[in-house]
Amino acid sequence: MLDFTDRATLPDAPREFGFWSDGSWRKGRAMFERRSPGHGVAVTLTPKCTVDDLNAAVAAARRAFEDRRWAGLPGADRAAVLLRTADILRRRRDEIAYWEVLENGKPISQARGEIDHCIACFEVGAGAARLLHGDSFNSLGDNLFGMVLREPVGVVGLITPWNFPFLILCERIPFILASGCTVVVKPSEVTSATTLLLGEILSEAGAPDGVYNVVTGSGRTIGQALTEHPDVDMLSFTGSTSVGRSCVHAAADSNFKKLGLELGGKNPIIVFADSDLEDAADGAAFGISFNTGQCCVSSSRVIVERSVAREFEEILAAKMAKIVVGDPLQTKTQVGAITTDAQNSIILGYIDKGKAEGATLVAGGQALDLGGGQYIVPTLFSGVTPAMSIARDEIFGPVLSSFHFDTLEEAVSLANDTVYGLAASVWTKNIDKALVVTRRVRAGRFWVNTIMAGGPEMPLGGFKQSGWGREAGMYGVEEYTQVKSVHIEIGKRAHWIK
Ligand code: NDP
Repeated sequence: MLDFTDRATLPDAPREFGFWSDGSWRKGRAMFERRSPGHGVAVTLTPKCTVDDLNAAVAAARRAFEDRRWAGLPGADRAAVLLRTADILRRRRDEIAYWEVLENGKPISQARGEIDHCIACFEVGAGAARLLHGDSFNSLGDNLFGMVLREPVGVVGLITPWNFPFLILCERIPFILASGCTVVVKPSEVTSATTLLLGEILSEAGAPDGVYNVVTGSGRTIGQALTEHPDVDMLSFTGSTSVGRSCVHAAADSNFKKLGLELGGKNPIIVFADSDLEDAADGAAFGISFNTGQCCVSSSRVIVERSVAREFEEILAAKMAKIVVGDPLQTKTQVGAITTDAQNSIILGYIDKGKAEGATLVAGGQALDLGGGQYIVPTLFSGVTPAMSIARDEIFGPVLSSFHFDTLEEAVSLANDTVYGLAASVWTKNIDKALVVTRRVRAGRFWVNTIMAGGPEMPLGGFKQSGWGREAGMYGVEEYTQVKSVHIEIGKRAHWIK
C-alpha cells in the first residue's frame, strides 16, 4: 500500500493504468513507461492508444452528446456532479498530488496547492452550470421578440501539456462540462496519470458514461488525429505556439472546428524605483522559479528602472540563492526537477546562449544531478538587450533576463516588444503609473504589486500569439457554447404577397 502523506516514498514498481473511454477503464495494447524526472526510476505505465481507440472515444462522446444524457439535464444536476467531484478530489488530494509529482517533478507542497485550486475550479464550474444563460431582445418592435440561446458546442477535444497536467485540465473540464459539452482528452504522454484518474472520479461523482473520455499516447499520433478529427466540434489546446499553429491548419483542413488556444509567453514584470523593492524582488524570484519556470505565465523578463537596477538585482540574486531546489517529494522543496530531458537540454542551451551573446550571469546557471533526477538552479542574467535570444524566446525554464529603463514609455515599449501577450505585472506605489501601464501593456492577465494571484472566477488567456479565447469562470464556460438567435412573431405576420 502506497503512503501519500509526508512520508511518501517511491513506488516499488510502476503503476499500470488503462485508458478511460465510455465510462470504464480499457486495456492498452502497448504501454509507455514514465520515469520520474526527480528520481530517474520508472513510476507509471500508460497506454499507447491507437487511432481506433481515439475514434471509439470520440464516438462515445458523440453518443453522450446527441442523446442529451448530459446536455439535457438541468444545470443544477450538472452542478451536483461537479460539486461531488470537488468532494472526491478533497478526499484524494494527496494521492493525486503524489502521481503529479512523480510524473512531472514538481514539489509535493506545490502539487497539493494546485489540487486545492482544482477543487475550486470544480466549485466555480458548478456555479457556472447553474448561471449559464442567454439573452433576450424586447426591442424588436411589438410584433417580434428575440431570444439568444446559449447551446453547448458539442464534442470537445482537449489537448493538455506536461507542465501542469492536472491544473490545466481542471481549469477547463468543469467549464466544458458545465456548458453541456462532452469531451475527449489527450494529455501529454509523459504526464497522463492524473488525467486518467479523473475519469473514475467523475464517474463516481455521477457523470454519465461517455461524457469524459481520455485517450493517451503521443502528440504526433493521437494528438494530431484529434486535431484533425471530423467529428470533434471544438478543440481546446494548451502548449507550444508551433503546435498551436498546426491546430489552426488541422481545424481548417478538417471541419473548421472551433478553437481555443493557450500558447507561449515571454512575460514582463515592470519594476519602478518607487516600488517596495523587497516585494518586487520576491515576486520576480517566485514568478520565474514557480514550477521550475516551466509555466506559460512565468515572468521571464524583469524590466527595472535604471536608478535602482543594481540595488534591485542584488536583492533579487540574494533571494534566488535561498530557493530550496531538490527532491520533489520533500515538503521543504520549492523548486523540483525539470520535467523532460528535452526541456532540460533546451534550458541549458539557453543559459549557454545567454553567456555567449554577452549577458552577465548574476545568479544560478548550473545544473544539479541529485539522486538520479535533473535540476537547474534558478538563474538571473543582467545586461540583456532586446535582440538576444534569451530576451525573445520562451525558454520555459528558470531563466530570468533583466532589462533597464529610464522612462515609463520605454518600460511599456520593452514590455510589448514580444510576439506574445499572455501575462504581465507592474510594481509601483504610484496609482497613476500602475493604471497607465495596466492599460498599455498587451497581455491577457495582469497583476499590480503581485504575481500569479487569482482564482478560477477570473478568465485565462492571451493576446497576440499567446492564443485565442478564454478559459475559466463565466467567460470560460461561454467559450464552450454557441449562440442561437431565435425570432418569435407575436400575433399575425404581415403578408409578403398582397
Ligand atoms: P507541445 O506543444 O509539443 O505539447 C503540448 C501538448 O500537445 C502535449 O499534449 C503534446 O503531446 C501535444 N502535441 C504535440 N504535438 C502535437 C501535434 N502535432 N498535434 C497535436 N498535439 C500535439 O509542447 P512541448 O511539450 O514540445 O514543449 C515545447 C515548448 O512548448 C516548451 O519549451 C514551451 O516553450 C512550450 N510549452 C508551452 C506550454 C504552455 O502552457 N503554454 C506548455 C508546454 C509547452 P505529447 O507531449 O504527448 O507529445
